[in-house]
Amino acid sequence: MLVHVCCAPDLLTTLFHVKDVHFHFYNPNIHPPAEYKRRRDAVEIVAKAFELDVEFEDPSMEDVKEWFSQVRGYERLGEGSTRCERCIEFVLKRTAQMARESGEEVFSTTLLASPRKDLEMVRRIGEKIARGYGLIFFFENFRKKGAYQAGVRLSKELEIYRQNYCGCVFSFLERKAKRNAQANPLAHGM
Ligand code: SF4
Repeated sequence: MLVHVCCAPDLLTTLFHVKDVHFHFYNPNIHPPAEYKRRRDAVEIVAKAFELDVEFEDPSMEDVKEWFSQVRGYERLGEGSTRCERCIEFVLKRTAQMARESGEEVFSTTLLASPRKDLEMVRRIGEKIARGYGLIFFFENFRKKGAYQAGVRLSKELEIYRQNYCGCVFSFLERKAKRNAQANPLAHGM
């Protein structure tokens, strides 16, 4: 099985549910570049600590442009919207393609460990892609059976970077606007 990796914290949670799999780090959505590097470095630390087989595919400029065109028109819809559906589909398609090229029959994603994701949405997207590529999408709630809490504990022990926004420039700006509104509620009509 080939498992797409979105970030180190979700990878740690996922490890409580999958064994002997290959991983694929591919995230053209992450902004800015310094944040991308920080998340990539964190995944490298986890890979080293657990001797994981992770293929790091750094996105080309073309990939980033394609990602932006994939979400064009949906930028302002917010987290959990069609924007995210299109983003997740774009990213998982690449992992499915990699899986097929390397002879894997099954693929999945650490997004299934994220507390911020609608798992049914991820399942729907994964299964749709699987049909197109002649693969199986492995679905499981990776957060269950205490895996999420255990992953958080582990990330603290290993001092793994835990991000505070989803990843794209839009989620970055949304988080910033929310923080500003909380800091100054009167100015924002709260
Ligand atoms: S909020 Fe997250 S899932 Fe949604 S578009 Fe941005 S990076 Fe993708």
